[in-house]
Amino acid sequence: MRIAIGQLWQETNTLNPLPTTRADFEPLGIYFGDELLTKLADVNEPGGFIQSVRQWPENPELAGLARFAAWPSGPVTPDTIAELLTSILDRLRTALPVDAVYLALHGAMVAEGMPDVEGELLRQVRALVGPRMPVVASLDLHTNVTRQMVEQASALVLYHTAPHIDVCETGQRAAAALRHILIDRAVVVTAFQKLPLVAPAERANTQDPASVSFKFRECLQRAEADPDILCAGLATVQPWLEIPELGSAVIVTSTYAPKALRLCRDLAEQLWQQRRGYLPELTDLPDAVRLAHAEPDGLVVLGDAADSTNSGSTGECTAIVSELTRYDWPRPALTTMVAPYAVEEAQRQGVGARYTADLGGVRDRRFSTPIRLDVEVANLFDARFTLTGHIGKNMPIDMGPAAVLKHGNVHLLVTTRSGPHFAPDFFRTAGLDPFAAQVLTAKSPCGFRAAYQDHAKKIYMVRSPGCAPSDFWNHPYLNIPRPLWPWDEIDAWAPEPVLIA
Ligand SMILES: [Zn+2]
Repeated sequence: MRIAIGQLWQETNTLNPLPTTRADFEPLGIYFGDELLTKLADVNEPGGFIQSVRQWPENPELAGLARFAAWPSGPVTPDTIAELLTSILDRLRTALPVDAVYLALHGAMVAEGMPDVEGELLRQVRALVGPRMPVVASLDLHTNVTRQMVEQASALVLYHTAPHIDVCETGQRAAAALRHILIDRAVVVTAFQKLPLVAPAERANTQDPASVSFKFRECLQRAEADPDILCAGLATVQPWLEIPELGSAVIVTSTYAPKALRLCRDLAEQLWQQRRGYLPELTDLPDAVRLAHAEPDGLVVLGDAADSTNSGSTGECTAIVSELTRYDWPRPALTTMVAPYAVEEAQRQGVGARYTADLGGVRDRRFSTPIRLDVEVANLFDARFTLTGHIGKNMPIDMGPAAVLKHGNVHLLVTTRSGPHFAPDFFRTAGLDPFAAQVLTAKSPCGFRAAYQDHAKKIYMVRSPGCAPSDFWNHPYLNIPRPLWPWDEIDAWAPEPVLIA
């Protein structure tokens, strides 16, 4: 028995003007064949899958295809996506015959001219392996599920959590779903419902009993405990996508069609009824910074959704650092930027040098306002660490050469490349203690809460500029289906799930 495994992973943000090229896949590691199996043996969804399958008594042989993962950013260029898909498919062709295929995907990857990358990959995989072979894919909770994806895969297994703290478990669940189909010979159908809504991410915390998402997570996990249900997922969708099939979705894969339909309809109906519970509560940036400054002790976290590097923004916006530098901070104020030119200048100047830095408006001319700031180079370092928590398990991160630029007690961490700028280990790598700060900026709409909820005295989601605005429906999206909430109010809508065998 032989199972092929590959990974294609990026959350795209089409409001980000920076194209994603092949070079953007290199920092997280491009792997082929056995190297994929070795390097990802305990990393993210592939690690969960590999470890699960290695415990099967049938002892299947694993055939590593290719692994391409890039940090969220703008659309993938046509040349790059053609090369990536060809690379995965050529290796699958060479690996044949196999008995099943597992793909670790994000589900919200967009290339120029290809709005449904995962659907296209699954279609081409299906064309290679034929209609009967089990093809299972794992997906992020912010996946944009398309009908093509559902039709071409045997089962799609979504994260249940946001913050995404179940990446490894999702790989394990994908292995369990595959086992039912491949070994137990389960004959499954999928109930699929697309909803005319996009759920904002800020309040969608599946780990917080006060969040609208909490009971959806409980419901999905309870459903999967039912032996008739292989997998159940609710995709709130990545909102910053201008694509024709944008929208949240519910999918339920089961051996018993009426059960799949019932659960799918119920979940879709509940999501529709409770959509307003997702609308974000934002604090104006000057107010949030003033409140943080007035806090005599404890950590205040400013959630920066709009310039969230986790959501594919450029990470170059200057609004927050500008506001922070208006105050004297008794305890450190920590904030971050993706600014390769600022790192190079800091390297030229050297540690201890004082100069006036030009920041912003280089990578992102739409949302990032250029500023000049008097700084001292406090540290030069490599932004390399292992991410475990939201989005990653044992995931090697390399944001390249980096620097700490100090203005008073404001510490601005500038990196060469984008990445998980919210991560506590990123600040530690720079020699700073994130939990001892007075205020810290987390470029993330919700996922940062996994690391900071228990440490923060206060958390404010700030209203600030960026490619991932919290009020995305106030921005002109051209190429999306309408009506779509919250762009449009929709009086009446009722789910009508379709069954796909
Ligand atoms: Zn996500």
